[in-house]
Amino acid sequence: MKVIQEKNVHIIDNKGAPPELVRLAQEAGSKCSTIDVVVFDAFIDKLKGNLGCFDPVIKTVIIDMGACVTNTAWMKKGILYIPNVWFNLVFSLFHEVAHAFQLEEEPTLIEFNELPEEFEEEANKIAEDSLIEWAKEGTIPRLSELNWAGDRIKSTLNKLYAQSPQTVLEELTVEGTKAAANALHASLSTDRYADEQERGQLLKSIDDGDIGTIVEGKKYLTAYEAINTTQEGHYEGH
Ligand SMILES: [Zn+2]
Repeated sequence: MKVIQEKNVHIIDNKGAPPELVRLAQEAGSKCSTIDVVVFDAFIDKLKGNLGCFDPVIKTVIIDMGACVTNTAWMKKGILYIPNVWFNLVFSLFHEVAHAFQLEEEPTLIEFNELPEEFEEEANKIAEDSLIEWAKEGTIPRLSELNWAGDRIKSTLNKLYAQSPQTVLEELTVEGTKAAANALHASLSTDRYADEQERGQLLKSIDDGDIGTIVEGKKYLTAYEAINTTQEGHYEGH
């Protein structure tokens, strides 16, 4: 049995990170001897647009909330913008924490400038599993609870309103509910559903109340279902 020594993690929050994200960082970091500091910042030049990084020399995880707000990869899978940002934040945190655990297990990794691909793949897999675990119980924070990221999202939605009012209204309508992905868009963006009939079955399950949620007459998948339906790696980090 491995005894996990819990320890304190120093959080440096330069912009105003979501409290739930800070909590996840503290929880994960306290179990890992190779994490001393977790930094939350935005648009960090040296990250070159990546969502996060782990610096093994100073045992520091850095999350770029700016990149997490602008990266829209999850949306290609039917996931709404606000959940997309939240998934980026949580996924990048767990991905970088996974690198810290890799270093704890394999101290010689500190010699690599770029980790071998298998370590990136493993970090992605761990991040995906951790995000799914989180989604089983977790609720996507409201815009006000996303702090700095929430303010950026609001400003993006304001700019988008003129050209695409329906999109913005949909985001604001489902904000604070269990909805994370438009069920039809999500089902069309994956090859999990072979045909019209299977997609129909999915929508019927939502109507029957077995899965998902209905908001203002529209059918949605929850965070857990949305990730499970659409999962495949897309992480842009280090
Ligand atoms: Zn990585």
